[in-house]
Amino acid sequence: MNEKILIVEDSPQNLRLLAMTLRAKSYTLLTAADGEEALATAVREHPDLIIMDMQLPKKNGFEVTRRLRQIPGFSKVTIIALTAYAMKGDREKCLEAGCDTYVSKPINTREFPGVIAGLLLDRRGEKNAQENPDS
Ligand code: MN
Repeated sequence: MNEKILIVEDSPQNLRLLAMTLRAKSYTLLTAADGEEALATAVREHPDLIIMDMQLPKKNGFEVTRRLRQIPGFSKVTIIALTAYAMKGDREKCLEAGCDTYVSKPINTREFPGVIAGLLLDRRGEKNAQENPDS
C-alpha cells in the first residue's frame, strides 16, 4: 500500500523533520508550505492523510481543514492537526474545524511514524468495511 501523505508546514526545518520520520516507510510524500498551496495540492492529489500545521501563512490550518471538509470526497480524508500551542481548548478547536486528531509540537520523532501508521490502518479498515459491508 503506497499511501499518499500531504505534509503542510511552513517551517522548512519542521517540514524536513516530519518528512524524515516518514521516509523509511513506502509512502508517497507531498508537501505544501502555506494554506493556499495546501488546498490546491490536496484537491489535485487526493492524499490519504494530511498532516496539517495549524499556524500557516495565507490561510491557516483551521480554514484549510474547514474548506476541505466541504468538498465532496474530502469528508473521509484523515487530517492530523499539528500545533505549537498546547493551550487549553486548542484540541477542541482543531476537532471542530474537522481534524481527526491532534499532535502538539515539538513532535516525538520516535512515536510519530507509529501514530501515522495506526491512523492509516484505521482508515483502511473503515474503507474495507464500506466496500464489503457483509464481510
Ligand atoms: Mn507554522
